Amino acid sequence: MDDKLSIARIFYPVKTLGPGNRVGIWTTGCLRGCQGCISPELQDYDKEKEFEVEAVIKMIRSITYPIDGFTISGGEPFLNPKALEALVRQLAEINDDILIYTGYTLDELKQLSMIEVDNILNICAVLIDGPYIADLNNNCGLRGSSNQCVHIFRHHDRYVDYEMQERKIQTVAYGNSMLMIGIPRRKSDD
Ligand code: SF4
Repeated sequence: MDDKLSIARIFYPVKTLGPGNRVGIWTTGCLRGCQGCISPELQDYDKEKEFEVEAVIKMIRSITYPIDGFTISGGEPFLNPKALEALVRQLAEINDDILIYTGYTLDELKQLSMIEVDNILNICAVLIDGPYIADLNNNCGLRGSSNQCVHIFRHHDRYVDYEMQERKIQTVAYGNSMLMIGIPRRKSDD
């Protein structure tokens, strides 16, 4: 498992989780158990969906349209830091605008004192951190809830105004079903 990531889906173009036409990568497995989790179907780790990082990169390199960045979400992408580090290293050679969602806070990640985690934080452009708290979903920007922080490490100009933008949901056909991509609004506002 160390060299593999369990990936539920890869989709291009994602237009609602960061600027431009991005590649979205969703990992499986998360132990946080946030009430009202945005992606409950991805909480269980799926061994059947394990991929070598090289295979993921090969798939992404087969995309012939311009890639403006990557958004990695889950599940919990940091569940396997070694494989995630290998992935972001190679993604950065394609485009270094890499946004990662995590249920850890940045402080928790730093306290892990793992070289792989530190390297990921040095490579990625943006980290959106912390558990999802449904009561703090304020329907704004890229965060699921206002306790989360948008840490912009690079490409500040692309992200600085993004937080004030209205959320959008992209609905796409994926396999035999429709996939909603984006941060959902509060359930009580539906
Ligand atoms: S961190 Fe994300 S995937 Fe994990 S339980 Fe919370 S909302 Fe769901």
